[in-house]
Amino acid sequence: EAAPHQLRMFFFPYMAAGHLIPMLDMAKLFACRGVASTIITTPSNTALVTSAIQRANSNSISLLCLPLPPPADTGLPDGWDASASIGRLDFQSVHHAIALLRGPLHHLLAGHQPDCLISDMFLPWTADIAHELGIPRLIFHGMGFFSLCVLHLLERYRPQDNVSSNDEPFIVPDLPHPIEMTRSQLPTPLKTNTDFNRLLERMHEAEAQSYGVVVNSCYEMELHYAEHYTKIIGKKAWCVGPVSLCNGSTTYDKVERASADHHGGCLAWLDSKKPGSVLYVCFGSLTQFTTSQLREIARGLEASGRAFIWVVRADGAEGVEWLSEEFEERSEGRGMIIRGWAPQILILNHEAVGGFLTHCGWNSVLEGVSAGVPMVTWPIFADQSFNEKLVVDVLEIGVRVGARIAGEGEEVVVKSEKIERAVDWVMGSGEEADRRRTRARSLGEVARRAVEDEGSSFKDMSRLIEELMLAPKRVRE
Ligand code: UDP
Repeated sequence: EAAPHQLRMFFFPYMAAGHLIPMLDMAKLFACRGVASTIITTPSNTALVTSAIQRANSNSISLLCLPLPPPADTGLPDGWDASASIGRLDFQSVHHAIALLRGPLHHLLAGHQPDCLISDMFLPWTADIAHELGIPRLIFHGMGFFSLCVLHLLERYRPQDNVSSNDEPFIVPDLPHPIEMTRSQLPTPLKTNTDFNRLLERMHEAEAQSYGVVVNSCYEMELHYAEHYTKIIGKKAWCVGPVSLCNGSTTYDKVERASADHHGGCLAWLDSKKPGSVLYVCFGSLTQFTTSQLREIARGLEASGRAFIWVVRADGAEGVEWLSEEFEERSEGRGMIIRGWAPQILILNHEAVGGFLTHCGWNSVLEGVSAGVPMVTWPIFADQSFNEKLVVDVLEIGVRVGARIAGEGEEVVVKSEKIERAVDWVMGSGEEADRRRTRARSLGEVARRAVEDEGSSFKDMSRLIEELMLAPKRVRE
């Protein structure tokens, strides 16, 4: 008998940081399992992908770069595909520009005989390419099962259309446990018809065409919703996360720690703090606050009396002067502001960190869970308020700051008192806070176990690999 051939999987992430980073980690995890993993990306992100591959130190990961369509065809600025900023450009223009990669991607894949393509939900046209090449396409949403269920059910049954005000609660129908929401917690496309809705429809069509779904989560966090989701969409789903845990290796720690300390020494600063005493505050890669909101956060953090690390984007409105010198002086020693990109995973896993004020981006939630820290939740857009529900009501490891999702052109300001109170509930003493901390810690333990040898996510990945070893032949016949 011939030796079993090495499975060749191709990963095509959407370029935004919150989608690209977990897809890279996933490719690394598959490579660790003996799969030849190839990441397809575009020019502005090749340096980032290359350094991630180098750090993974594996011969089984490679990179292919697709050239961008000419500027005249896209109308987008130079370097529009950069993961750090793509999320702030007009979504439709970006979507149009990326769809121009269809021909080149087909050509590229056809020359490499892939066994499988894993591509982002925002790239529905890749389902056609996989079909033409006779290979299975798996979808990566960058969302958890809970949010995927809620999103599907709200689109299908639209209970949000039958309430008379934005604050009147309704029940999300057909979930394993009743979950209450209000319109003010929903992302815009679920409230009003936008161009984005056409893309959602297209994504669902592509979903129907695809082989299955790979989810960055673990059954220990979302078992009922994982089972429910496969019923709702009638497709197979594999649960392989939290994928960021593949970065727990010592090489990664060393390299990241060195570069982190180079950028302001936040880890050395944490070393000087008591265990569990510091709040880590970060709103992901995209969120930009107005000056008035930044000032409320500063006031809330100051009033909380807790030590904190606060990550503030260094561009846009947040680059201008908004913090008083007095604030910096008063918080000297107690608070640290990181302007730009923070080594989030390392910070969250530092023993001095005892809480995470997060916008509830799915990666941040998973990273907080994996680190075993309780959270203060402040959803801002997209699936974040669904993730907040999971964290606060299902997993019971978080406290809401009490934010609404802003409507189009609307400004929502969360007052400092609310911030102070929620921070105090999470970081403070008391039975409830202790129970929350204990739950967070044990969830962290089971989440970490999930990706270890023979853990639930490890086994799901084995099942997927075994199935894919057979699947291409079946599909190609
Ligand atoms: N991140 C980071 N440093 C920062 C900001 C973000 O490392 O200063 C990482 C974070 O660890 C996570 C990703 O960027 O992996 C953000 O993804 P998430 O889904 O949380 O939010 P998004 O940026 O998509 O809103």
